[in-house]
Amino acid sequence: MENEYQLIILGGGPAGLTAGLYANRNKINTLLIEKAMMGGLAVYAELIENYPGFPEGVGGMQLGELMFKQAEKFGLKNLMADISGLDIKGQKIIITTSEGVFSAKAVIIALGSERINLNVPGEKEFVGRGVSYCATCDAAFFRNKEVAVVGGGNSAISEAIHLSKYASKVSVIHRRDKWRATPVFIDKASAEPKISFVLNTTVESVEGEENVKYLRLNNVASGQKSVLPVSGVFVAVGQQPNTDLVKNLVKLDATGYIVTNEKMETGVPGVFAAGDIRSNSIRQCISAAGDGATAALFANRFIEQV
Ligand code: NAP
Repeated sequence: MENEYQLIILGGGPAGLTAGLYANRNKINTLLIEKAMMGGLAVYAELIENYPGFPEGVGGMQLGELMFKQAEKFGLKNLMADISGLDIKGQKIIITTSEGVFSAKAVIIALGSERINLNVPGEKEFVGRGVSYCATCDAAFFRNKEVAVVGGGNSAISEAIHLSKYASKVSVIHRRDKWRATPVFIDKASAEPKISFVLNTTVESVEGEENVKYLRLNNVASGQKSVLPVSGVFVAVGQQPNTDLVKNLVKLDATGYIVTNEKMETGVPGVFAAGDIRSNSIRQCISAAGDGATAALFANRFIEQV
């Protein structure tokens, strides 16, 4: 594999893959580096119903595969590797990875975000023994069992809807009495008799022996403590940006996301950011794809000028 490129894209989610598609169609010699599976966090979505062009919805994993296939068709090169460094030497951007060192004139950071842990006693201990972060992956293990989902956003509600196809009961535990999830999701979950909502409630601990047996809950409105017997708990309490690599290089907002202008420029020449990692992103596949296209086109202009 060659080591010098015009453009390197970090991350193979919708932003990175779209950037790869646009860059290759512009005949920019591009390498996309991804450490795991193409598709980003969207691969955990069983069905994405709001990505235009798919009136029946599309599986997140399938969308990732299709985006990759399309970018590859136009010649996108890709590498599976862990990225450990991003440095600037003169007009070169140096990317250090587990598979070698690569350089480019421009880089698009599309590393997305990763799921946040609940950070309560028992959570870590019971991962794989009742604690899960992916209903699409693990729901089938909870056939006819009672489970809980923690969180009040779209992820929590879509996880609950998916789980209701397998579990006998799904309790959605949310720390407030107002949902962050969009109303259409709440309506869908409310119509499912197996799903119930436990509001104003936090999880204090995950308890069990070999596997999870129950959750200790705290009602934050009344102060009342209770126990909820469950065989599984699915944590869906949001995401944090994967900015460790660049936190000393580019400007981050107060919540740690990369600040860019409308051209996806970070302010560091040749360094662009796109997708969920970007400040004020609405964190949807469609917005990530849009960011990726914009970043690729302005990276192209930058490359032509240097
Ligand atoms: P999110 O929208 O940030 O929601 C996180 C939820 O977890 C919030 O309800 C939050 O409570 C709660 N929470 C955060 N920390 C917590 C803690 N320590 N303990 C208890 N609860 C906690 O995250 P998300 O649901 O993962 O969604 C992320 C993005 O992906 C969003 O933009 C969403 O629209 C998108 N998404 C879209 C779809 C789709 O099909 N359209 C599906 C899934 C996700 P508060 O509300 O009190 O802050």
